[in-house]
Amino acid sequence: MKKIYFDNNATTPIDPEVFEAMVPFLKDEWGNPSSIHWAARAPRKAVDEGREKVCKLLNCAALELIFTSSGTEGDNHAIRGVAYAKKEKGNHIITTKVEHPAVLNTCKALAKEGFETTYLDVNAEGLLDLDALKAAITPKTILITVMYANNETGVIFPIKEIGEIAKERGVTFHTDAVQAAGKIPIDVQKLNVDLLTISGHKLYAPKGMGALFVKRGVRLVPLITGGHHERNRRGGTENVAGIAAMGKAAEIAIRDMEKEGAQILALRNRLEKGLAEKIPHIKINGAIDRRLPNTSNISFEFVEGESLLLNLDMKGIAASSGSACTSGSLEPSHVMLAMSLSHEMSHGSVRFSLGKMNTVEDIDYLIEIMPPIVERMRSMSPLYAGAK
Ligand SMILES: *Cc1c(COP(=O)(O)O)cnc(C)c1O
Repeated sequence: MKKIYFDNNATTPIDPEVFEAMVPFLKDEWGNPSSIHWAARAPRKAVDEGREKVCKLLNCAALELIFTSSGTEGDNHAIRGVAYAKKEKGNHIITTKVEHPAVLNTCKALAKEGFETTYLDVNAEGLLDLDALKAAITPKTILITVMYANNETGVIFPIKEIGEIAKERGVTFHTDAVQAAGKIPIDVQKLNVDLLTISGHKLYAPKGMGALFVKRGVRLVPLITGGHHERNRRGGTENVAGIAAMGKAAEIAIRDMEKEGAQILALRNRLEKGLAEKIPHIKINGAIDRRLPNTSNISFEFVEGESLLLNLDMKGIAASSGSACTSGSLEPSHVMLAMSLSHEMSHGSVRFSLGKMNTVEDIDYLIEIMPPIVERMRSMSPLYAGAK
């Protein structure tokens, strides 16, 4: 059976070059980078070089980067770290309704500790109203956390503009850039961000590895206390192989981003055009021209997204409904609901997230097998008979 992977926003395969970069630190160079003897030398060097490479991807200084165990940890560290550091100043956090659970549930958990959160709406295209953001800021606001690009729709938020607003009002600004990193250029010098989260496994490095940019001067209470690692900001012996992997992945992203982005965008356009030509009653979700090049979120009216995914899986196609973290539950996606899609359209939404290993053949196979599947499913829907 064919195996086609269109779920790169859930996780990416490990790039073979990245894998090779890890191997030495899983085999011969197993030393603790903090030791002062011979066994530490190569691991120490790998940590320093990995850091430099990731810093290059973000355009920050080495002392501004903390390695973490995941994007989730980075989001937690940023939000809790700022909330605890600034709690004397205020208790108000501003975020959006369409954040990843790593942000939403951290804000929710902080509510039990006396923090209050405003969850900003998005419009039908998934875009924020910056006037509403400005209006939400109060003297008690200590943190704004808005994702760089949405994992379900690919919609990109105006991070630079939000950063300007935050700076003007003296509010710390964090962005979850897990989906943006490696797909579009990120330059923290130009963005007015104080903190920025990335994750390894969304950019062809392994799972269980991430990084958090913390601008010089930003106060942050550590999430994990321990040794002096990461300049006392994150205890725990460094994941040397993981850091080497992230460094290599960052290096490849810098090298290939432009070329790959154009390739992937062409594939995404082919996919959307092909499906729209062959399947009536579909709708692309999210602001069409403000999306990551790889993400396509499509609602198929009169079809249940979960069963559509099962049918696609039987044909070897891996795609997703909403985020991997919410699939399995029958709740419609919080992102689709925030965009005011009807429950039916939310339930009928499928996300195709492309990656650098996808080919024209993959897309054409999807365009070939999908219309009959959708037609067969719709033929069983009483609603569809009426709409036809
Ligand atoms: C995947 C993802 C995360 C979580 O990253 P992990 O490394 O899986 O913990 C956070 N935010 C966004 C937008 C994501 O897509």
